[in-house]
Amino acid sequence: MKIETKAVHAGDRKKSSVAIPVTTPIYTAASYIYEEVDTLDKVFGREIPGDSYARYENPTNRALEELLTSLENGASALACASGMTAIQFALTTALIDRRKHIVAANALYGATIRMLQSIFEPLGVETTWVDISDFAAVEKAIAENKPGCVLMETISNPLLRVGDMQRIADLARAAGAALVVDNTFATPVMVRPLELGAHLVVHSLTKYLSGHGDVLGGAVISDESHAESLRALSRTSGPVLGPFESYLTMRGIKTFPLRFERQCQNACRVAQWLAAQPGIARVYYPADPKHPDAEVIRKQFPENCFGAMISFELKDAAQPEVFCFMDKLKLVVRATSLGDVHTMVLYPTMASHRDVSPKQRQRMGIGDNLLRLSVGIESTDDIIDDLAQAIA
Ligand SMILES: *Cc1c(COP(=O)(O)O)cnc(C)c1O
Repeated sequence: MKIETKAVHAGDRKKSSVAIPVTTPIYTAASYIYEEVDTLDKVFGREIPGDSYARYENPTNRALEELLTSLENGASALACASGMTAIQFALTTALIDRRKHIVAANALYGATIRMLQSIFEPLGVETTWVDISDFAAVEKAIAENKPGCVLMETISNPLLRVGDMQRIADLARAAGAALVVDNTFATPVMVRPLELGAHLVVHSLTKYLSGHGDVLGGAVISDESHAESLRALSRTSGPVLGPFESYLTMRGIKTFPLRFERQCQNACRVAQWLAAQPGIARVYYPADPKHPDAEVIRKQFPENCFGAMISFELKDAAQPEVFCFMDKLKLVVRATSLGDVHTMVLYPTMASHRDVSPKQRQRMGIGDNLLRLSVGIESTDDIIDDLAQAIA
């Protein structure tokens, strides 16, 4: 089945009593009972499927998890309270029976960098940072460090670099490491990392998949070999998403392929327009034929689909000029998120990469004049008009 069809059908219409609800209701019960205690005993013992306690299973969450599993072509999924919780659980699942060392892309979401430095490192998990677009460097880092886990984003934040996922997955597999991919920026419409050999995929559901700025959520989608340990960790630690958020996310996903198609088309036009503006020093967008990872982009993503994230540098600008530009925007929302139906702008130095040291930011190529744009579904004429009056 194609992804547009899965988005509106997978997970829904489970038989409950007599009638079958057309969409999955919000189940708020914290625990469940059965006619016979013996049945509950078998459910607790996992001899038969069923609900017992909401930290273990919840029908609304299960429907969303089935939908996410279907979209990513995985074996199972876990819906979590946030994208960061999802990353923490994916890494823990990967490392629980492997060497406690991570080879991580040096351009990651700011909080992910901080999680590795301030949670995993003090717990004894060392991280080796590597340029994930430099295949030889990744190869060397894996050979030298024998990591239990390799961590990358499909499209890096905020400079939109793209690593060769299939070849990195092969390297990780050969070294006995698990490849964990944060697929938030690309979404399963652009790439399904498990099909390319990744072991665990992470999403911030807060972004494209829910898509309306009204959900905080995350998910881990796993291959067959990690499904059991992911679920076992979750049953013990309880990172679960609330059922209301699960419902909203399912509702969002039904129109996600449609929204994303429009967002990608809009982004292509906005990126072209930005590149022609004298007030713009540089534009980062995967459709650029001069993109440093153009070859991998052509191989890894569908034709004419380059995502809906753009980064750009304002000419001769520092923080005051950037603030001035942002304050002038009337339509584009100055929000710390991405992937919503409306266009949003974010200043990495102030928001997503605020906790990264200025020196490390500089090393990552994130200048004080860099802005990140998440293109929405509005008319591109209006988006461009708003950007134009703010640049002027
Ligand atoms: C937002 C984001 C996260 C964190 O997700 P939350 O839902 O905010 O916890 C992780 N990775 C990427 C790429 C993100 O954009």
